[in-house]
Amino acid sequence: MVGLGCYVTSPQTITVLGATGSIGLSTLDVIARHSDRYKVFALTGYTRLNELEALCIIHKPRFAVVPTEANAEALDHKLKAAGLSTQILVGEAGLDEVSAHPDVDAVMAAIVGAAGLKPTLAAVRAGKKVLLANKEALVMSGSLFMQAVIKYGAKLLPIDSEHNAIFQCLPTGYEEGLSSKGVRRVLLTASGGPFRETPLDALRDVTPDQACAHPNWSMGRKISVDSATMMNKGLEFIEACWLFNAKPEQVEIVVHPQSVIHSLVDYVDGSVLAQLGNPDMRTPIAHALAWPERIESGVNPLDLFAVARLDFQKPDEQRFPCLRLAREAISVGGTAPAVLNAANEVAVEAFLGGRARFDEIPQIIEAVLQQETVSAVTDLECVMQADRHARGLASAWLERHGR
Ligand code: NAD
Ligand code: MG
Repeated sequence: MVGLGCYVTSPQTITVLGATGSIGLSTLDVIARHSDRYKVFALTGYTRLNELEALCIIHKPRFAVVPTEANAEALDHKLKAAGLSTQILVGEAGLDEVSAHPDVDAVMAAIVGAAGLKPTLAAVRAGKKVLLANKEALVMSGSLFMQAVIKYGAKLLPIDSEHNAIFQCLPTGYEEGLSSKGVRRVLLTASGGPFRETPLDALRDVTPDQACAHPNWSMGRKISVDSATMMNKGLEFIEACWLFNAKPEQVEIVVHPQSVIHSLVDYVDGSVLAQLGNPDMRTPIAHALAWPERIESGVNPLDLFAVARLDFQKPDEQRFPCLRLAREAISVGGTAPAVLNAANEVAVEAFLGGRARFDEIPQIIEAVLQQETVSAVTDLECVMQADRHARGLASAWLERHGR
């Protein structure tokens, strides 16, 4: 083609892990706006398989992944009837296959929770461009995950809006250390969730629907509860330390109720760079998909006159003990963040299922962190073992309390 002055580039192939979720659907919305640039390679779903079927019919992926053989048979039957040749894969092996497949260019890691760790790592180990929404994977396996990114030459792009904002405000080469690039600290913004001003004694009676009604963002139920307890910001604090090679004291949480500034970077010369935008995950998704270029995301332009004011507050660790627990877990290190994450997942599930009160979520996590012996993270198995053991301790807490 040299000398012809034009190239015909084929679209990038994308696997969307967790396609039926909030991030998965936003990703597919952006992809659908750019069919010349992106082609869906694989879609995975765990629940809402009717939704997965509809998405397959729209995006015609080469593979779809479902949890069981019975699900696979049912989906295969329906897709064949619709004239599709999508191949259906099953379970963890299927997730790993579509994450590491030689024909995949980029993987959107948007499964919620620890279930996303193995396929996300499989994508990293295959040297893919990895769009990381699944913060729990990085929180659990921190050093192991980041070492694999370097070893296998993967390109890791943050999807979490705060981390994507920080990434946009950082200079190149920050991976070698923030101080060497003149960065004093990164400022991680937090909306404070729906209970920022709720009287403390009312937190006891909060219902799952109240906890999931986030003032600014529309998200899956687990991350919505995490936002209400502010464990989401605790997990993001740990995520920021790993992603940006930052020491915990270089990350500061700033409560900013409007969710317009998505995070900031503070430099030694006094400059503070921020990324702003409407709270819509299609912005970080489009940014990471097209990086280092820019594409349309479907997000409305920010109207600063409508926003009118931006407020900032210090986080209240007494109201939100999960912030302290996350800070403690990253300073203990080793398997402590995996234990924190696992205990939180069990506690949130119990809360959503009506088996634990909202104010018991941090109590369960703290009890598990106190009981669990922390070890160094040497391989994936020790992370998974810490995860299993912490889940056992959290379930035992629930049983002891008659749930
Ligand atoms: P969601 O609950 O809406 O979707 C989760 C997806 O994971 C679904 O497709 C579901 O089928 C799949 N899934 C669930 N359990 C699974 C399992 N055991 N095995 C395989 N697949 C499974 O969640 P979400 O809000 O889209 O969040 C996804 C991830 O992105 C989370 O880690 C969350 O912290 C992160 N994130 C979300 C947002 C947001 O705005 N929603 C923002 C930042 C980060
Ligand atoms: Mg976030």
